[in-house]
Amino acid sequence: MTIYDPRTDLHGGAAVVKTTLLGTANPIPTLDRAGNAIVVEVAGEPYLVDCGPRTVYELLRNEIDPGDVENLLFTHHHMDHNLSFFHLAIVGWTAGRESLEIYGPTGTDDLVDGLYSLWEEDIAYRQEAGYPAEGIENIATTRVSEGFELETDEVHIETLPVQHSIETYGYKFTEKSTGATTVLSSDTAKFDGLSDFAAGANALVMTCGIVPVGETPEEGFVWERYTEPYEEERRSVLLNYHVTPTQAGEIAADAGVDTLVLTHFTPYPDRDAIEAEVAEVFDGEVVAARDGCTVSV
Ligand SMILES: [Zn+2]
Ligand SMILES: [Zn+2]
Repeated sequence: MTIYDPRTDLHGGAAVVKTTLLGTANPIPTLDRAGNAIVVEVAGEPYLVDCGPRTVYELLRNEIDPGDVENLLFTHHHMDHNLSFFHLAIVGWTAGRESLEIYGPTGTDDLVDGLYSLWEEDIAYRQEAGYPAEGIENIATTRVSEGFELETDEVHIETLPVQHSIETYGYKFTEKSTGATTVLSSDTAKFDGLSDFAAGANALVMTCGIVPVGETPEEGFVWERYTEPYEEERRSVLLNYHVTPTQAGEIAADAGVDTLVLTHFTPYPDRDAIEAEVAEVFDGEVVAARDGCTVSV
């Protein structure tokens, strides 16, 4: 396993399942973190999981052609996970995409219907300017539900309903020839099924709800209310739907994974404190991610 992290700068080795965290923020925007989106590459095929704010720019930054994304999987339809869908749908098409398969929970069809109704004239104008109907008019959706599986010659993808405020799924990617496995939890509270789902995985990527606050920017815009730890009332509401770093570590330990990557941070996370908190309960490798963090298994 190799991890490339912009801070620790560890990388190398041939990836069987290469997972890149394009954006690692929660819904509150800061300039150093984009919204949630993760690319899982298996046998050269990029599977984009979620499409939060700034996803298209982060694909470019990570040298992934938006036109190459032909499989998009949504974990759930909160804005920090889907706001760039319309951008990707149109830009990927004009970049040469020939087809797009979208997998996701309830609401996925609405998103595609919205694309066709809100941007009908825009799409028609681009077709007049020479772009083909293929790639935009043939977008297909598949409703994900408990037990849903997707299989190609190279990869087996499984879903797990997780515990969030709306219908939400975690995804497990297993490369078939080696068994290399990466699990993405999406937004969830801690529950027993999660460690069963992730059992034995090489890498587990978990979103966190509330994390220790670190240094705030000395210049530029600062979200003042996020420069202090959350008050108890908000904290307890959020923790109905998200895990703490300690809980993520407990799940990783129960599952026996090699590496735990944490993401989905409130502004100004203290990454050292997050990793130290996890290390109290999990003795595998732990990374509090920054945008561009890559985990190869
Ligand atoms: Zn959410
Ligand atoms: Zn979220």
